[in-house]
Amino acid sequence: MRRVDAAEIDALLPQTQCTRCGYAGCRPYAEALASGAAALNQCPPGGAALIESLARLLGREPLPLNPVHGVEAPARIAWIDPQACIGCARCLPPCPVDAILGAQRQLHTVIPAWCTGCELCLVACPVDCIHMRAWPDAMPQPQPADNRRRHHAHEARRAAAAATREQALQQLKHRATSAADPT
Ligand code: SF4
Ligand code: SF4
Ligand code: SF4
Repeated sequence: MRRVDAAEIDALLPQTQCTRCGYAGCRPYAEALASGAAALNQCPPGGAALIESLARLLGREPLPLNPVHGVEAPARIAWIDPQACIGCARCLPPCPVDAILGAQRQLHTVIPAWCTGCELCLVACPVDCIHMRAWPDAMPQPQPADNRRRHHAHEARRAAAAATREQALQQLKHRATSAADPT
């Protein structure tokens, strides 16, 4: 088995960020592979072709995809039923590439060319109005590099929002402490 940098492994992964490998996204799986903690047959979106590539890179024996993590299947795309969407916005945070457009009390819709088919939005919807459909033949699928860039932007936005919330909380605490002890 060869020691390989996680970035080199991450470059091979599909970047759907679906978490089916059992890790929080493609980069954490790449890091687990680099450290030897993960098997190379845990990524259903990458399937057999990815396993072959990983086996070559890591100097390991290829294995069949572990069915515990899912099965290899054609690409799918999320679609929101406009008749059923209640505009609750719960599907926005889990989308790892910000492929859903909408705001509170507004109809939500998927940006088709950005959807990685990860299915993470499905469980968030309280009215089950998000459905997975076959990827349209005529539409190109998003490339891994685009998925990675959009995911980094998503993570950066979430981190900035969390920092803003924390700052506001600290200011509130400071004001409450000052009001209780004006000396
Ligand atoms: S595509 Fe999904 S299963 Fe494959 S490495 Fe990325 S998060 Fe894991
Ligand atoms: S719209 Fe749903 S299926 Fe598509 S990338 Fe976002 S969370 Fe995944
Ligand atoms: S979670 Fe479902 S109902 Fe709520 S905004 Fe998203 S698609 Fe619409």
